[in-house]
Amino acid sequence: MIEVSHLSKSFGSLSVLKDVSLNIRQGEIVVLLGPSGSGKSTLLRCLNGLEQADAGSVRIDSVHIEAAMRVKERKKAIHELRSLTGMVFQSFNLFPHLTVLDNVIMAPMTVKNMPKEQAVDIAEKLLGKVGLAEKRDEYPSRLSGGQQQRVAIARALAMEPKIMLFDEPTSALDPELTGEVLQVMRQLAEEGMTMVVVTHEMKFAQEVANRIVFMSEGIIQEEGAPEHFFAGPKTERARKFLRQMA
Ligand code: ATP
Ligand code: MG
Repeated sequence: MIEVSHLSKSFGSLSVLKDVSLNIRQGEIVVLLGPSGSGKSTLLRCLNGLEQADAGSVRIDSVHIEAAMRVKERKKAIHELRSLTGMVFQSFNLFPHLTVLDNVIMAPMTVKNMPKEQAVDIAEKLLGKVGLAEKRDEYPSRLSGGQQQRVAIARALAMEPKIMLFDEPTSALDPELTGEVLQVMRQLAEEGMTMVVVTHEMKFAQEVANRIVFMSEGIIQEEGAPEHFFAGPKTERARKFLRQMA
C-alpha cells in the first residue's frame, strides 16, 4: 500500500532522512516514535508530497513519486498523492472565517468539484462520526481544542483518503481533551483505515499500533510489534527514549 524506498532528505548540510525504507500494508496502524529532530515529521511530509526527497521514492497505491522525476510529472504525482492522503497536524489549521461545516465541505467542493448537496451530506455524516453534529454552524474559535481537532479529522476524511497521517495530533491539547481525539483515532483504526501516527501517547501506541517504527537521527533504528518494542527494545537509543518517556 505504502512503499518508501531509500528516501534521503537534507536541509542544507543537515541530513534529516538517511536512506529510509518502509513498507506499510493496507489497514496497518504504524506509530512512529523517536526523539525530537529525528525526522518523523519530515518522513510524514514526504508521504503526502508536502516535502520532496533528494533521493529515493514513495509509492502509495498506484501513485509513484521519485526524486529523479521531471517537474511536470512530479507535480502530477504530488497532486495525486495529496488526494490519497489525509493529514492532521498538531495545530488544527481550520479556516477561522468558515463555519465547521464549511471547513469540511471546502476541499471536496473545490478540489473534487463535488456538488454542494453531496458535500454537505458527507460532511454531516463525518461530523456525526466525530461527535460534533450539533456544532456544524459554529466557528472554530468557539470550539475547544479537542473539538477543533476532531473537525480537522472530519475535514481530512471528507476527501476520502486511503491513508491518514497524524503528526502529534494531541500535543497541543490539554490532557483532558486528548482522550476524545484519541477515541476518534481508535475508531478509525477499528474501521480499517491505514494510519501512520506520530505521537507521544504511549498507551495509544501500545494498544492501537500494529507496528512501532522507532527513528533517531534520520534512520529507522528498529521496528516491531508494540508488545515486543515496549517490553524489550533492541537498541540502546530506543531504551533511552523509553526511559525518558516514562
Ligand atoms: P519533533 O519531535 O520535534 O517534531 P521530528 O522528528 O518531527 O521532531 P523533523 O521535524 O522531521 O523532526 O525535523 C528533523 C530535522 O530537520 C530537525 O533538525 C529540523 O530542525 C530540521 N528541519 C525540518 N524542516 C526543516 C526545514 N524546512 N528547513 C530546515 N530544517 C528543517
Ligand atoms: Mg515533528
